[in-house]
Amino acid sequence: MAERKKDSTITWDKKCTGCGKKFTDSMSSLMGRFPWPVRLFKVSTGTCSECEQAAEALREKLAAARDLHWTFETVKAHFEKNPPVEGQELIILDTSWQLFTNTYALVKVVAPASGPQKRIVIDGYSNAYNGQSFYRTGQNCFSPKGQVRLLPYHPVIGDLIKEGDGREVKLTPEEVLSLLKSLP
Ligand SMILES: [Zn+2]
Repeated sequence: MAERKKDSTITWDKKCTGCGKKFTDSMSSLMGRFPWPVRLFKVSTGTCSECEQAAEALREKLAAARDLHWTFETVKAHFEKNPPVEGQELIILDTSWQLFTNTYALVKVVAPASGPQKRIVIDGYSNAYNGQSFYRTGQNCFSPKGQVRLLPYHPVIGDLIKEGDGREVKLTPEEVLSLLKSLP
């Protein structure tokens, strides 16, 4: 058995670029290797753990807002409890193409329960990578791991689309978060 290298932790006093507080940063080696070169660690500024946690919490909040707080599981449960009907309005979320904005499109149900899997067929949106048939989870049948998914209708997003061109809106996660926050 190879001898395991001894791990160590180094510390360095830094100023947080987030809150301006002084803090002691630390970096530990794993199997004798540091995640960063020591000379890149020993710098005067960094991010304190509180600011790091706040940034992580914000990232999670933004990701949840982007998905309008739906997951594949909750979408499936929603459609099982409230089976879609022909002509019903739903929302497509397309996270492909754009760097910072996502597309929300207003679509209509063409076939609410197609085939034994009760797929939902919609009309009104497609890009090069998706078909118009979706599983009950909202995943695209043509590209289930793709970046186009079907979500239940959302009044705030739906209103915004209808006030615009009636087809789609492009929003950053930050914009979605503030829109959802304005809900009564
Ligand atoms: Zn800080």
